[in-house]
Amino acid sequence: MVQWISSNFRCLFNRHEPVHDDVTWDGAHYISNCHRCGSGVRRESQGVWRRDWLQL
Ligand SMILES: [Zn+2]
Repeated sequence: MVQWISSNFRCLFNRHEPVHDDVTWDGAHYISNCHRCGSGVRRESQGVWRRDWLQL
């Protein structure tokens, strides 16, 4: 439980981790799914993945 909270803490603040084996380029950014929370995520800049802001 404590571990779950700490691993999802970053997700709550919109700092996600992509599934590195499943990253695709959509013509604008790299997109993937967060391996912690499962949200669709989009790479904002090097190492910075945000919840996908172009599709809800
Ligand atoms: Zn996440």
